[in-house]
Amino acid sequence: MGSAVDSLIKRISELKKRRNAIILAHNYQLPEVQDVADFVGDSLELARKAMEVSADVIVFCGVSFMAEMAAVLNPDKIVLHPNPCAGCPLAEFLSPQAVREFRSAVPTAPVVLYVNSLASAKAEADYIVTSSSAAKLISMLEDDEIVFGPDKNLADHVAQATGKRIIVAPPYGHCPVHEHLLNRYYVERALSKYPKATLIAHPETPRDVRSIAKYVGSTSQMLKAIPKFNGKVLLATEEGLAYRAKKMYPERDVEPANPLAVCIDMKKITLIHVARSLELLKHRVAVESSIARKVREVLERSLDLISK
Ligand code: SF4
Repeated sequence: MGSAVDSLIKRISELKKRRNAIILAHNYQLPEVQDVADFVGDSLELARKAMEVSADVIVFCGVSFMAEMAAVLNPDKIVLHPNPCAGCPLAEFLSPQAVREFRSAVPTAPVVLYVNSLASAKAEADYIVTSSSAAKLISMLEDDEIVFGPDKNLADHVAQATGKRIIVAPPYGHCPVHEHLLNRYYVERALSKYPKATLIAHPETPRDVRSIAKYVGSTSQMLKAIPKFNGKVLLATEEGLAYRAKKMYPERDVEPANPLAVCIDMKKITLIHVARSLELLKHRVAVESSIARKVREVLERSLDLISK
């Protein structure tokens, strides 16, 4: 007789067929949610995948700004966010009103927002970037002064990479997981336990962690970088990426730099939420059409620039 989890997985698979649905999951999701997903990736890869699929329903397992982005890019599809309580504290640092205030305080500087921001804030921006495209796009702008938000560590990483003056909006915006649970203390603790290990880090980590990392990149870039290093690799990002890395490279020794670096919001979606979401077609993500249109324009402008 199968376990309760097995029957839940079977139920999800039946509902997926019945609804002509696809499940997309972020790299930081719970292992069992990653395992039922049709595609696992970072926020940009998931947004791209959401546009490619022919399914009628997209079940988006990630935090709310990611589900919003999938809805913005797929106005004709049903996008479901299995647990709408899964928000992102980093995105919440920057309201659309705050973006307008920064713009009027520095009217000559373009406003570039990290994809980890609310749709309503993105609608006020000139460009949208991911952690992998931020430095490239900002270096392509003619301006030497840029308003960038909401992550101060990514802003610092971009300032170092481009030599431009970055005005951080707001100056204290951060991801609590990368700022507090992947600080120098935790990373040095891991390195003292495994002195021969290679540390690779996400750009949302503080400068004193990035400065001792052998490589800094987005979650997808970190995954691609793992085979370049010999021996044990420590990942200075949310612990869920290690599960993905171990699945991709079962022969490799990969560990989270801090196993307690858990994003509680990313873990708020369980298999029960996924099954309920498909069963009841809940919770449908709705982004106001004028905001969605503006976000699509900002994204198109950003992709046009970056592809030059
Ligand atoms: S890990 Fe940080 S940036 Fe990512 S969803 Fe959680 S709080 Fe937001």
